[in-house]
Amino acid sequence: MKSKIKTNYSLKKLNTIRIGGHALYYATPSTVFELKEILGFSLDRNLKFYILGNGSNVLISDKDFNGTVIKLRGRFEEIIFTEDDGTGTCGAGAFLMKLGSKIAERGYTGCSYMGVIPGTVGGAVRINAGTLEEGEIKDHFLNAQVLDPQTGELEIYAAEDMQFEYRKCALSQSRKILLQVTFRLPLAKEKYPGEARETINSILATRRQKHPKFPLNFGSTFKRPIGGKPPGWYLEQVGMKGMRSGGAMVAEEHANWILNMGNATSQDVKKLISEGQKRVFEEFGINLEREVIYLPEDMETWY
Ligand SMILES: Cc1cc2nc3c(=O)[nH]c(=O)nc-3n(C[C@H](O)[C@H](O)[C@H](O)COP(=O)(O)OP(=O)(O)OC[C@H]3O[C@@H](n4cnc5c(N)ncnc54)[C@H](O)[C@@H]3O)c2cc1C
Repeated sequence: MKSKIKTNYSLKKLNTIRIGGHALYYATPSTVFELKEILGFSLDRNLKFYILGNGSNVLISDKDFNGTVIKLRGRFEEIIFTEDDGTGTCGAGAFLMKLGSKIAERGYTGCSYMGVIPGTVGGAVRINAGTLEEGEIKDHFLNAQVLDPQTGELEIYAAEDMQFEYRKCALSQSRKILLQVTFRLPLAKEKYPGEARETINSILATRRQKHPKFPLNFGSTFKRPIGGKPPGWYLEQVGMKGMRSGGAMVAEEHANWILNMGNATSQDVKKLISEGQKRVFEEFGINLEREVIYLPEDMETWY
């Protein structure tokens, strides 16, 4: 296991906006046994830790992290279908787009949102990821195996335990670690070979047109206010489009997206986020809630 722990590891390459300092330790456990080993290693040294999925919904601090960053690999990336009982079980480190593609290959429609979200299964379950038109994790979630890092105990969370809501669930502000997730596949009567893949391709094509072309970003910055318009609409009204702070810029194509135009720091991005929140509140009295997670800062508030 020691060979899987690296020291002084740059976190920039582990997230989609390519921002972040170094982690004192970076570990890639392949099994629950190895994960528990690395957690023990961190706890023994009184070090903090956090799990990273594909880093597509996080803003990582530029300050070096004096702890352990863990990415689930190996067995955690496996996807197994049990079509007899209509389920698919995946490790929390599996790539959601791969799961979406595999479900589509089997001819099931109804899970196309999975085929377009560039995160891991763990990261997606944690925020009940989804798309407005195509559905969200809660629509297909059956249960999950979760590790409590404090006690070392494994727990099973059924759908009713998860309290899924728009972009959140019972685990959103928890330090517990998702290990494995079982999804209910769409019903057999929804089986139309070819159609599912076409749906994914067509959503991806629409996104290529609608979303910023510049690849260094974390997707939507803010959640949609309940009963309100999309955040991008408010941000555009208050003049955020194209605004720059250091190397970061609010996308011209979509005001809810922030881009790293080169050497942006987490502070540059945070300034744009606060400015957008301030302006929207002053103009519309609406508190835009962040979708992107600040690491490690937000973790300090989790139970
Ligand atoms: C181009 C682009 C398009 C996007 N489109 C969408 C979209 O349509 N819909 C949508 O909902 N989101 C979208 N996103 C945001 C993002 O892809 C999703 O939120 C995704 O689910 C995040 O998964 P991740 O693995 O990247 O998580 P990360 O960003 O790595 O982590 C997010 C949080 O989850 C925690 N976490 C990760 N794995 C685990 C685990 N195993 N156990 C416990 N905690 C864990 C991390 O600690 C962190 O707090 C988009 C992002 C981009 C860049």
